[in-house]
Amino acid sequence: MRKNIVVGNWKMNLKRKESLELVEEVISMLKNNNVEVVFAPSYTYLYKVNKMCTDLSYVHTASQNISKNKNGAFTGEVSAEMIHSLGVKYIILGHSERREYFNETNTDLRTKVDLSLSNNLDVIFCCGESLKQRESGVHFDWIKSQIVESLFHLTEEEFSKIVIAYEPIWAIGTGVTASSSQAEEIHAYIRSVISDKYGENVSANCSILYGGSCKPNNARELFSKENIDGGLIGGASLDANSFVEIIKSFQ
Ligand code: PEP
Repeated sequence: MRKNIVVGNWKMNLKRKESLELVEEVISMLKNNNVEVVFAPSYTYLYKVNKMCTDLSYVHTASQNISKNKNGAFTGEVSAEMIHSLGVKYIILGHSERREYFNETNTDLRTKVDLSLSNNLDVIFCCGESLKQRESGVHFDWIKSQIVESLFHLTEEEFSKIVIAYEPIWAIGTGVTASSSQAEEIHAYIRSVISDKYGENVSANCSILYGGSCKPNNARELFSKENIDGGLIGGASLDANSFVEIIKSFQ
């Protein structure tokens, strides 16, 4: 079901005490919230952070990644079924940092999507173009191919477990944000791609988040757009005040 979601992707930041304090602070500031809030801490604190969130129906956790293998001799890897056993709701897949630094392909991501769904984990699927791709005008086709190649083998029912996060690579961690109209243009396009495959109803029910230097000073404008249902927040999610301000941009 389409809903407003704000996800904090902490990446490889924060030690144990800082992580737990951040969650405590954010939760204490969220009263009667009508937005789903998701924390994506390091694997190492995921269990504890998830425990801290279980009493609040609108606060959940996400894993930043999973292995593309089901289980077995893969030293250092973490499987979808392990993440599911912690009670975690979401898996973030296809983040541009995973694609770029760990060479994750659309085919790898398709496998990870299947492993996530078969373990009852919902997927936050990231897609987005580089500056070079935008400047050369191939960004629409690029984003479409990311979605088609990793997601369009899913049934309609499976696709309803997918949240899309549009993250232009040129805006991630750079302080440069896509303008609200640039973001809205791509979000509307993504919705039309989904509609062509699964129909209007499925498309209208898909939450599509924006990510890329979303901050307290631009969140309200971005979230006011018809096809922007929330945000995947990096840097600004590491500070309780700015993360909560972004969440409250919906109110
Ligand atoms: C991200 O990495 O998902 C992200 C959007 O980062 P930032 O908000 O720091 O640009």
